Amino acid sequence: MLKMPEPDADVLARRKSIVADLRDIVPGEGVVDATSEMRAFETDALTAYRQMPLVVVLPETVEQVSRVLRYCHKNGIRVVPRGSGTSLSGGALPLADAVLLVMSRFNRVLDIDYANRAVVVQPGVTNLGITHAVQDEGFYYAPDPSSQIACSIGGNIAENSGGVHSLKYGLTTNNVLGLEVVLINGDKVRLGGKHLDSEGYDLLALMTGSEGLLGVVTEVTVRILQKPETARAALIGFPTSETAGQCVADIIAAGIIPGGMEMMDRPAIHAAEDFVHADYPLDVEALLIVELDGPEAEVDFLLAEVEALALRNGATTIRVSKSEEERATFWAGRKAAFPSVGRISPDYLCMDGTIPRKELPRVLAGMRELSEIHGLRVANVFHAGDGNLHPLILYDANKPGELAAAEAFGADILRLCVKVGGVLTGEHGVGVEKRELMPEMFNEIDLDQQMRVKCAFDEKHLLNPGKVFPQLRRCAELGRMHIHAGAMPFPDIPRF
Ligand SMILES: Cc1cc2nc3c(=O)[nH]c(=O)nc-3n(C[C@H](O)[C@H](O)[C@H](O)COP(=O)(O)OP(=O)(O)OC[C@H]3O[C@@H](n4cnc5c(N)ncnc54)[C@H](O)[C@@H]3O)c2cc1C
Repeated sequence: MLKMPEPDADVLARRKSIVADLRDIVPGEGVVDATSEMRAFETDALTAYRQMPLVVVLPETVEQVSRVLRYCHKNGIRVVPRGSGTSLSGGALPLADAVLLVMSRFNRVLDIDYANRAVVVQPGVTNLGITHAVQDEGFYYAPDPSSQIACSIGGNIAENSGGVHSLKYGLTTNNVLGLEVVLINGDKVRLGGKHLDSEGYDLLALMTGSEGLLGVVTEVTVRILQKPETARAALIGFPTSETAGQCVADIIAAGIIPGGMEMMDRPAIHAAEDFVHADYPLDVEALLIVELDGPEAEVDFLLAEVEALALRNGATTIRVSKSEEERATFWAGRKAAFPSVGRISPDYLCMDGTIPRKELPRVLAGMRELSEIHGLRVANVFHAGDGNLHPLILYDANKPGELAAAEAFGADILRLCVKVGGVLTGEHGVGVEKRELMPEMFNEIDLDQQMRVKCAFDEKHLLNPGKVFPQLRRCAELGRMHIHAGAMPFPDIPRF
């Protein structure tokens, strides 16, 4: 059972008057309090957990966001920011006593500045919406999460999202130039802008990946790129996941940075092929899609290098796309991999860990052992080039004990990632999913220091509480808890 902060009984008792006050701030249909209408917001894409919020508020202007936050701050009411609700780590999971602040009505592109290669948007604009706004002029926004058709750029900022092209073009943090953020006390701050560097502390980077714990993003300025002259992809099949993993490590070691380098294992290949018929080879254990982009001559040269490395690692199939249509077909299976795995298992947990790339073969072998230990299947679909793994643990929520087994399996995979020198998350954030694992990676001093940063922005812990930090930490209590050899004191006391 997921432990969340104890609901504030006083806030629950005041619900009616809180709703009325919020209606004064956001009139019309911007406040939703009927149970049937709030149902749509009770979970994000980590659907194992659900909770009805106190009330849902959909502001339309920055002034309304500021007034809502100021009101909540003054009255001790918790706030959970939400974009499109596609978080896979439960980052937008509501709390029973919290306002769910949904930013989806902030859906306008405010400024397209080709000269400065910058676009200014509201946070509810979808990731793909930015590319749509500039593609006719030959530009695009590079970070491309698979959820890009739905996820909001505000959510991307909060989770520091990435995608297939992040290997070469960076994560969200490498493509954000500026933000407008409203703090919990209602103050509005601007960080960065269209310029490339900013003075003082890099608060823009701090805000990127802060999972809704430091402020509410109300405006985003991103960098746009010109589309590369050409892009071609190679579809490469291997007899084992280990040899595919070794090929990835060799490509990187050779100094080649593909536009994208993705890997799927046998269960994922079959699920994707059944679903979208991308003509994937079915007699291989692992499939790599390696895309090279840039000037044509460079792409041809590097593709030949990649082919040679693949053959040296025992590749049994190599096909290079000859047309845009064929390249898109290669990617179609990968892009549909998550939903297609949903067709072969009633439920799955999508994990997200990152490892040094040369550890890929070792971690893949370790995952197979863990699969046997926990008695659950795993399908692997991941950003191989970045070492960002997405093991999908297949289970059936209706079978008693399977969710718990899946969670234990997932935790062991992440421990393995940390053990080989990696980190707990690549792009999906910590949320509620990984918060209890934070001590695997950080010691008490690390966590306290991170909490001090949180406290500098939100001393009352009103913004998205229960997420990221592994236990109830209060600003005033910092430094008082003594942990010996990583063991928590009073382990039987519920923490969240
Ligand atoms: C099928 C599928 C595929 C996915 N593939 C990828 C992938 O390839 N790469 C990847 O990185 N992610 C992926 N994701 C995860 C998810 O899409 C991203 O984390 C995304 O950035 C979440 O955006 P959202 O608008 O849905 O945010 P939400 O889910 O609504 O919220 C996520 C977090 O952001 C905070 N937040 C949202 N808006 C704001 C705001 N305006 N100000 C402050 N905080 C805010 C919330 O409090 C929460 O902590 C995938 C998800 C799904 C369902």
